[in-house]
Amino acid sequence: MMAKSDKEILANSMYEDDPNGNSAPTSIDQEQGQLAASEAATADPTNIAAAISPRWGPQNKGAQELASLYSPGKRAQEVVCVYTCIGLMIINLALIMSHMRWERISVTFFSALCGILTADFASGLVHWAADTWGSVDLAVIGKNFLRPFREHHLDPTSITRHDFIETNGDNFMVGIPILGYLAHYFYIKSPGEIQQNFGWIAYVFLCSIFVAMTNQIHKWSHTYWGLPRWVLLLQSCHIILPRKHHRIHHVAPHETYFCITTGWLNWPLELLRFWSSFEFIIERLTGLKPRDDDLKWAKKLT
Ligand SMILES: [Zn+2]
Ligand SMILES: [Zn+2]
Repeated sequence: MMAKSDKEILANSMYEDDPNGNSAPTSIDQEQGQLAASEAATADPTNIAAAISPRWGPQNKGAQELASLYSPGKRAQEVVCVYTCIGLMIINLALIMSHMRWERISVTFFSALCGILTADFASGLVHWAADTWGSVDLAVIGKNFLRPFREHHLDPTSITRHDFIETNGDNFMVGIPILGYLAHYFYIKSPGEIQQNFGWIAYVFLCSIFVAMTNQIHKWSHTYWGLPRWVLLLQSCHIILPRKHHRIHHVAPHETYFCITTGWLNWPLELLRFWSSFEFIIERLTGLKPRDDDLKWAKKLT
């Protein structure tokens, strides 16, 4: 069962699976656009194209303004993080393979599963916090961290036009201390201690890999052309976030289905009303309105 109907999704989110730069209007947009177009055409016959432009996509003024805030300094930080994290992934994978024993396979599998669930929950928590609170005007985190979340709602498929560095820089940065800790753990522990704590190692490793890969998985969930077959297979088995599943988050006002690694926790958290209860408590305590900044950007249409 889905949290939103197909009709709600179609009416309140961008139509993504079109081959023309994701710029096709939704049916609702078309209806509204045609109405606006006839009004605009009456006043100014050259204005029809502007009047039928859709609410979401690369032509959205807010999305363009947010994209222009991507700075060279931010790019440098991302390059360093991506290469460091990949190096640590390779080192840890080699260490894990060299210590792997068949008799520990079941505990390894169970721990790995818990690691993936933790990563999925963490993705939901960070995504929810960034979407719901704070503003792009905030010092340091505004432009560097919250900006991509705002841009993503206004132009959901811009992520598919980002390269590997821009897509993965921030998540790989989070993976660095965890994978660094794990490499250090291998260095200071004896082989016996490593065997005893192999479940913990598998948990930390899989959690960090899925945390690091979250935005790449998220990018694949917005990609409708040219995906490798193994990615499509992982999506259809729901081992990584499937496209139809993530579409539910991209329905205005973006208030649910925040987990973007595997998406396994979205339905149970929705059932528990986890995010809305959390927002209710924070609003009562602080007086802050959830998604205030996100809504402000959503209104910047011209
Ligand atoms: Zn979001
Ligand atoms: Zn998305």
